[in-house]
Amino acid sequence: MSNPQCPSCGILFEKANSKTMPFCSQDCRQLDLGKWLNESIRIPLSPEEMAERRQLASFEFDNNDESIDEEEI
Ligand SMILES: [Zn+2]
Repeated sequence: MSNPQCPSCGILFEKANSKTMPFCSQDCRQLDLGKWLNESIRIPLSPEEMAERRQLASFEFDNNDESIDEEEI
């Protein structure tokens, strides 16, 4: 059997020696968990979502202008 590789630090370790699979140690498991939490907090919206919201906002603004013109006529 080949040894598993820790996804956090990248070292090969013996599966039997680890109680924190798939990580080599408790430190690596917490490091990886903290990394994911930080990324989800730092980026609440993706660039695609931001562009979609901007397009929706300008579309609603155009519609409002047209309705005002109709009322004046
Ligand atoms: Zn590790």
